[in-house]
Amino acid sequence: MIKSEIVDNWGIHWFRRDLRVAGNEALRENWRQSNGRTLGVFFFDSEFLKRADFSSNRFAFFLNTLSELKGELKMMGGDLLVIDCSPKVGFAQLFEFFKKSKIGMPSVVSYGRDYEPFARKRDQEISSFLQAQSVRELCLRDHLLIEPLELLKDDQSFYQIYSPFARKWFQKLATPEIAGRLRKQSSASSHFEKLKSNKMESIFKLGWSELVGETEFPFVDSLERFRTANQKNVTIPIPKGGFFEGFSRLQEYSDSVSKYLECRDFPSLEGTSRLSMFLKNGSLTTSQIIHELGLEGLSFEQKSGPTQYLKEIAWREFYYSILFHRPDVEQQAFLPQYRDLDWQNDPEWFERWKSGKTGFPIVDAGMRELNTTGFMHNRVRMIVASFLTKDLLIDWKWGENYFMKMLLDGDLAPNNGGWQWAASTGCDPQPYFRVFNPWLQGKKFDPDAAYIKRFVPELKNAHPKLIHDSEGDRSAYRYPKPVVDHSVQRNLAIELYKKNPTLKT
Ligand SMILES: Cc1cc2nc3c(=O)[nH]c(=O)nc-3n(C[C@H](O)[C@H](O)[C@H](O)COP(=O)(O)OP(=O)(O)OC[C@H]3O[C@@H](n4cnc5c(N)ncnc54)[C@H](O)[C@@H]3O)c2cc1C
Repeated sequence: MIKSEIVDNWGIHWFRRDLRVAGNEALRENWRQSNGRTLGVFFFDSEFLKRADFSSNRFAFFLNTLSELKGELKMMGGDLLVIDCSPKVGFAQLFEFFKKSKIGMPSVVSYGRDYEPFARKRDQEISSFLQAQSVRELCLRDHLLIEPLELLKDDQSFYQIYSPFARKWFQKLATPEIAGRLRKQSSASSHFEKLKSNKMESIFKLGWSELVGETEFPFVDSLERFRTANQKNVTIPIPKGGFFEGFSRLQEYSDSVSKYLECRDFPSLEGTSRLSMFLKNGSLTTSQIIHELGLEGLSFEQKSGPTQYLKEIAWREFYYSILFHRPDVEQQAFLPQYRDLDWQNDPEWFERWKSGKTGFPIVDAGMRELNTTGFMHNRVRMIVASFLTKDLLIDWKWGENYFMKMLLDGDLAPNNGGWQWAASTGCDPQPYFRVFNPWLQGKKFDPDAAYIKRFVPELKNAHPKLIHDSEGDRSAYRYPKPVVDHSVQRNLAIELYKKNPTLKT
């Protein structure tokens, strides 16, 4: 029986990786155009479960984030429906239902721009579909402060080297347009305060059940079902997600940014912000971080904690720009001469690297941090990535894929960029002949072995000197002997790269 009423001028906001209300430009514009009658939808295609880089842990964090978002929207009088199918099928079925039930079509569908190759293809298809249905489409900038097409060289080509990119990126921050984008971010702290004091106003004027009325609705919300089904595959404690949690963490970190330069390379210190997993899901954006930490107006040439922090955010935007302009990096090395390196790919060594049993304490600590927490400190990511490629001579793509499976912040652009940097195959990489010495790295960045002892408890009573000694006998601690000799492997790695000096196209 069809009883629903025709609803005038309402919109759908399609959430993807923009899981927040505060500073969500596309959602806000939809809300404005629809006079507050905006409904949220999220599609999850179970096909994703089969992807090689699918991670139950990251999915659990994502679902936590979705659940927080749903709660927040409800508090504001809005709603979110999580549908178990692809957006293509989901939109088609939803629209079919709206037409049949006489509710009428939404006047607008909004979403935040995504820059990954898979997402761009998907969005093109949905965009054509929306046009064919005569539904207004609103696709706006989302998690990048400056989008890849907004920052090009004078000849309109894209930057392939970080420093000139970042210099220009810093300059752009001062332009009226970008400064305006940053100013708008003050809404995030007022939104946070309202959430904190439970004083959120009800600004949305429509929920899914009100829209549907008494009509039989063929969609059920799948959020809780996904959470229950996924839970059995989760292997680590999953942190709370969402804007509130992310913003609280950002506020807690704000006093520490002044010490970022001195502390950021030491994994035993709380020297970095640990906001990457919130950025990945769009619970926070880099614009919000920059505004909240007061990083506007800094110059690229300055040497200070805040400037260095901003430079790291610029690295993130740089890698997104690379992925946007060179989507093939998802499959292959940026530099053609390093596409067919003769990797040894020993599966047993790979297993030892994955499980943190290589006999190199700093590497093992990093891998065990990853396996038990879903996070790894940036300095240690560089060390373990260099070790996999240049000591174990294993293809960087194996490591990239393992990181994607294990990291809660696993994000294609910075992950691919980080791996190709460490493997010397990327744009602006670490030169191939500059091979990290894991013994010296450990000694320099974890001198008293506090980080190593936290994640490699076998060594908790060992002296730091013994821990960092390449010749040391650690067998009394039931700790494995080094799987390889670094000085031998270093030379083999350099030879491996030298064998491929010519451009292969
Ligand atoms: C091999 C390798 C793989 C990586 N994989 C990922 C990944 O999957 N997802 C991810 O977000 N980052 C990745 N990074 C970048 C970096 O390690 C993490 O962003 C950082 O460790 C996150 O911790 P944080 O939030 O405390 O960073 P902070 O030091 O507090 O930095 C603030 C923010 O700046 C950005 N940032 C910092 N360092 C980098 C960097 N080197 N490259 C790009 N952006 C950076 C991040 O968004 C980060 O949250 C990888 C780096 C390497 C070397």
